[in-house]
Amino acid sequence: MRTKFKAWAEPYINEHPEVMLDLSNASNLDNLYLEIGSGKGDFLIGMAEKYPDISFIGVERNVTCAGITAKKLVEKEVKNAKLSWIDALELLPMLKEESINTLFLNFSDPWPKKRHVKRRLTSETFLSDYFRTLKNDGKLIFKTDNKDLFDYTLESLNSHNFKIIEVDLNYLGDDDFDMVTEYERKFRELGQPIYKVVVMKNV
Ligand code: SAH
Repeated sequence: MRTKFKAWAEPYINEHPEVMLDLSNASNLDNLYLEIGSGKGDFLIGMAEKYPDISFIGVERNVTCAGITAKKLVEKEVKNAKLSWIDALELLPMLKEESINTLFLNFSDPWPKKRHVKRRLTSETFLSDYFRTLKNDGKLIFKTDNKDLFDYTLESLNSHNFKIIEVDLNYLGDDDFDMVTEYERKFRELGQPIYKVVVMKNV
């Protein structure tokens, strides 16, 4: 599901700093509810609308997806969600220790080839960043349709001091603190199982 490049996206983002995360303040942020790889923003916006007292942040490195999300945030006048058009690898080191309350990874790119393992959002480098930035009672919530990525993720989490608190091999989408994402909608329509794992830090 490639998103066709849209030339309007970057100028649109630049014209709407009010929906973008102010990165100069990144190291002061606390109690974050962060989605990495927020795609076109349906989860981010859905959660923000469902939980108006919580502030959410979406992180998306693809300019077109970021532009589409920024446009939705502007048009729906969402006040409690911000977007960061950046690679998570760059953003995470800017955040202070134990500043993330909940980290959402929804339908992350599977990067099936061995030489691309490092790009998976649950590979070693990312997990180290998550471990440092998650609060001690914070949660990482991971959903995917991809069994290979799921198996890799379970293994990776297990070998990295995370404590698995929930595993679901056929997640029905019945958790209140959740929203259907763009990818999830498509996979559910095709009747494919959705895998979910929730972990906390093992401290
Ligand atoms: N969460 C959405 C999109 C899933 S596709 C959904 O469920 O529908 C995965 C998304 O993650 C893509 O938009 C991709 O650009 C983004 N992504 C992948 N690696 C990233 C990284 N390192 N930093 C930020 N975004 C990333």
